[in-house]
Amino acid sequence: MNKKIMTVDLEPDVDGRFRSLTECIPKLLNYFDDQKIKATFFTVSSLLEKHESLIKEISKKHEISSHSHTHSILNPANTSWEIRHSKEVFKEYGFDVKGFRAPKFITTKNHFKLLKEHEYSYDSSLARYFPGRYANWGMKGKPYVKDGIIEFPSPNFVWPMVNSGLSYLKLLHPVSKVFPKPYMFYLHPWEFLEGVEGKGFVGTLLERNSGRKAVEIFRSYVEGQKWIGCRDWMKENKLKI
Ligand SMILES: [Zn+2]
Repeated sequence: MNKKIMTVDLEPDVDGRFRSLTECIPKLLNYFDDQKIKATFFTVSSLLEKHESLIKEISKKHEISSHSHTHSILNPANTSWEIRHSKEVFKEYGFDVKGFRAPKFITTKNHFKLLKEHEYSYDSSLARYFPGRYANWGMKGKPYVKDGIIEFPSPNFVWPMVNSGLSYLKLLHPVSKVFPKPYMFYLHPWEFLEGVEGKGFVGTLLERNSGRKAVEIFRSYVEGQKWIGCRDWMKENKLKI
């Protein structure tokens, strides 16, 4: 069976708090152990300040990569700093991160050039379409190399807007039960919180089927598949790091 890539975005909760780190991560790690799932955790590096031991715990079995330093949306003014500083902070804490994922899949023009300059090997920041956020119509649905960086684009369940993330499985449940299983999946631990409140229209959509229902939806999606992180996938598929 082809192994698929499991990714987790480790960031502040959608309401700006940090409940999911203590309430959801330990349970998620146990579940991953039980199911022999390995994952890449795209981690906001500013979390290291208060949650170093949790992130060290995750790294015993899973890969840690960067999800920027502050989780601010990248723009031409902050992108270079977010990419460089995150890498530096991880290094200070003993992590040699190789991968990067931009907050909300929003990138700037020199994205790949900056990643190369700051010695990242791969990226997972491209997604096909979201109104007002990004539009990469010609994007491939499989990994490829661009400017010396391996790109893991976010695949779609249903082209063009429904990305293969837990948010969309929840939003479109129960129709999503019949969705295909593309090569990569992503989730946010705060989606497992009960009663989390998001902001605005997107926030309201994200609240749908959260908490226990999200756990159920997630389980039925992942079980019966083999899951590994980005770096292991690169090794198994002989993509050079
Ligand atoms: Zn994020």
